[in-house]
Amino acid sequence: CCTLKMKYIMVFITKLLIGDDGMTIFADQVNKTYQSGEVTVKALRNASLEIPDNKIVTILGPSGSGKSTLLNVIGGIDRYDSGSIKVGETVLEDLKERKLTDYRRKYVGFIFQQYNLIPTLTVEENVEVGLELSQQPLEMKDILQKVDMWDKKAKFPYQLSGGEQQRVAIARALIKNPEILLCDEPTGALDEETGKNILKLLKFVNEQYGTTVLIITHNQGIGEMAHYVIRMKSGEIVESYENEERLDPEQVTWS
Ligand code: ADP
Ligand code: MG
Repeated sequence: CCTLKMKYIMVFITKLLIGDDGMTIFADQVNKTYQSGEVTVKALRNASLEIPDNKIVTILGPSGSGKSTLLNVIGGIDRYDSGSIKVGETVLEDLKERKLTDYRRKYVGFIFQQYNLIPTLTVEENVEVGLELSQQPLEMKDILQKVDMWDKKAKFPYQLSGGEQQRVAIARALIKNPEILLCDEPTGALDEETGKNILKLLKFVNEQYGTTVLIITHNQGIGEMAHYVIRMKSGEIVESYENEERLDPEQVTWS
């Protein structure tokens, strides 16, 4: 009995120290309108979804269908007009500006098509930028080794290839050990082989750290590696399904 008790205590302490990785994302009837001059654009129309913990989710859809808007409101970069979004225990519309920033810094990692590295900082310094409010950051060496950039930690962005720069951007997003990783066309600027390596890394992150990974892409094939696929059109979520037979990143159709 004592060993069992010890085990429960250990699990409890571990959860206290590391936290539960990954978070359920729940959106209910979310609407978002952009006004630019005379033109009103409905970027999200009653978007609802439910994404369980620790999953890889692909968001597909044509340009202008609201994919980035959806990611930005989930990540707390942008506000929505109505509806509700809950990430873990946090209800986003209840948060005042500063709390929304705290939420984003603490729980959310972002990766974009343009790597957005700071040109005057080295690889290691760029990754350090990602620490923000983290309470349980990962080890710099550990994370740089994971993305295979430890040997190049003193290099500057201009000395790196596109794939290497994206790996640094991933390390920067990951160092704070985020619960959710939001990737807006992460392979959009990369060739097939490099892109597949980035997908492998995202899969590894999901498996190793239990991070929920959302990937926006034009590339239909990337859906083949996800647990869930969401399709958007004109601001609406038109389809959302579980992927039964997940492929390895290197087997996905690249188009
Ligand atoms: P996607 O990522 O699927 O290409 P977006 O979410 O970026 O689509 O955009 C959805 C719609 O909202 C588009 O019509 C786009 O032009 C518009 N939009 C996005 N951001 C803004 C903005 N900051 N101001 C005005 N319109 C915007
Ligand atoms: Mg977009």
